[in-house]
Amino acid sequence: MEPGVLLYGRGWIETGWPEGRMPSAADLDAVSPDNPVILSRADGHAMVVNSAALAAAGITDETENPDGGAIERDADGHATGMLIDNAQGLLSSLWTEPDAAAKALALETGAKVYVSRGWTGVHNMSVGPDEAPIMLELAGEGKMPLRLWNAFDATEEGMALAAAQDYEAPTITNHAIKLYMDGALGSRGAQLIKPYSDRPDTSGLSLITNEDLADFMKRADEAGIQVAVHAIGDLANQRLLDIYEAGGYPPEKRWRIEHTQILAPTDIARVGPWD
Ligand SMILES: [Zn+2]
Repeated sequence: MEPGVLLYGRGWIETGWPEGRMPSAADLDAVSPDNPVILSRADGHAMVVNSAALAAAGITDETENPDGGAIERDADGHATGMLIDNAQGLLSSLWTEPDAAAKALALETGAKVYVSRGWTGVHNMSVGPDEAPIMLELAGEGKMPLRLWNAFDATEEGMALAAAQDYEAPTITNHAIKLYMDGALGSRGAQLIKPYSDRPDTSGLSLITNEDLADFMKRADEAGIQVAVHAIGDLANQRLLDIYEAGGYPPEKRWRIEHTQILAPTDIARVGPWD
């Protein structure tokens, strides 16, 4: 690889590693000092980057955390190379979007993996609106042997596509959007009522305000769009339940909380009415 060329990968998770700790820029610098390296955690809620990538993206010790994101720092205030949730966007200038042919190949390859494991359909989250025509084309060519239920990114384009149910086929449903209340537990981005017991300096991240989510839901309701909202921490789930209750959306809509991973004991009974 030529010096300066970006290396990107995704899929690591520290829980099975001997040290069981998050990786750092220093770990990557030792093997790749000259090429920017970006490695996304398996869940997509965090990434580790090396010093060359931090420098290329202009991230310094002084760079402020974006809303809903964290640039992890050590005791001296230096960026460690771990970027959580919305802070990952600070690196977006470093890579170019794959073209349609590359996306088609990735979708076809992924579908083959699922089918080889016996899957017949997937609920496909956080789909880019530009992927919808590619999936339809693959289905037409017999290269998409899965039933797809797609939930699109909650952009204007994604909302319009889900409202119109564009690019559907007998095996493809395009009628939902996915939103995010918070991050993930492993990267300490899940939004908790109390601080993390092993990270008392944080109680996680909020990725959307209650007002913005309520507004999205109202618009989705009016457009007949199904809504899926990612909520992992107990505060994220509590806020989401508050908004569902205030909106009075009935269970027949089949709206969903994605993950519902940690619930305050008093909130468990509140989920029942939407079952
Ligand atoms: Zn999720």
